Amino acid sequence: MIEPNSELVIDYEHVRNNIQLIKSNLSANCKIMGVIKSNAYGHDLKMATQALDDAIDGYGVVRLEEALKIRESSSKPILAMQGVYSSDAYDALKQNNIWSVIHSVSQLPLARQYQNDLRFWIKLNTGMNRLGIGLDELDQFESLLNDSNVLMTHLACADKPEDELNDTQFKNFDHAWNKIGLAMPRSVLNSAGVFNFPDRAYDWVRPGIAMYGGIDFSGLKTAMTFRSQIISIQSLDKNQRIGYGGRVKTEKPSKIAIVYCGYADGFPQIAIDGTSVLVNSHLSQILGRVSMDLISIDVSEIPNCKIGDWCELWSPELSILENTRKNRLLSYELMTKMSQRVKRHYLNI
Ligand SMILES: *Cc1c(COP(=O)(O)O)cnc(C)c1O
Repeated sequence: MIEPNSELVIDYEHVRNNIQLIKSNLSANCKIMGVIKSNAYGHDLKMATQALDDAIDGYGVVRLEEALKIRESSSKPILAMQGVYSSDAYDALKQNNIWSVIHSVSQLPLARQYQNDLRFWIKLNTGMNRLGIGLDELDQFESLLNDSNVLMTHLACADKPEDELNDTQFKNFDHAWNKIGLAMPRSVLNSAGVFNFPDRAYDWVRPGIAMYGGIDFSGLKTAMTFRSQIISIQSLDKNQRIGYGGRVKTEKPSKIAIVYCGYADGFPQIAIDGTSVLVNSHLSQILGRVSMDLISIDVSEIPNCKIGDWCELWSPELSILENTRKNRLLSYELMTKMSQRVKRHYLNI
């Protein structure tokens, strides 16, 4: 056995397949602003830019710094989705041909100074009440409302299509767009929206998590494999307690494998007994509290399980959603919190 390490294997072929699935929900002229903020949800911003440049029409990020890094290797549109705040940053947008969101009246003075040089996405608050211009403030944006800019909003409940807030948001958005009365391009949908409201796709959609396979729609696959090796196996009698606090007791004679990975690698500490993992393509389950550097799993039913075997915490074969559903977590958070000490491998760039 070589020196073990926890690993994150990111296969961009899976990301591109997920993008194909997103596209199959959209009309051919709808463009995809692939969201690669937060280091491409843990999939590496640089690698994502290389691997996805032909698969998407533009990049959505949050930080100006991220936008500039993408610009080093791509000539596609880039949108700073949370806006920028200083004249230095506006200069950088101009020099690097980066688009920016305007979501507040407080951004107007600077935005007006640059309105002839920059393209803006004007973000409306249609009911989420986080970022966005109030419908009653829209008059103040007249000089920015033209068809080289985009009118956008963000849904609070795109993943709950039955929630009435969706209707309210669509109504408010339609009302504002009609009132502006120009053929301004529009953008409303994130990942869940693309699958739940494809008729609201308009000119641009902004999928993030779906590209990485972190939401539950048929055919999407978790693109990252998070795995580590088994470094010890305990053969235990009935009624033996396992790990810190001894929170679990064996109900029968059991084989317990100890995996070289813990919460310091990015595995959720709160994972409960019964959380699924994969060993040699067999389902296995966590037993006992997750420690900083180790996880204990039940391999009693796994034939020939031995030291050095790999344990997949999540992967294309074991969706990250198995973990997040069981533990009431968010795939977004798990993906963006992978620790630096986990060794990265990138496939199919
Ligand atoms: C993060 C973000 C998205 C992508 O959301 P997903 O749920 O990951 O698809 C889209 N639009 C905006 C404005 C965002 O901030």
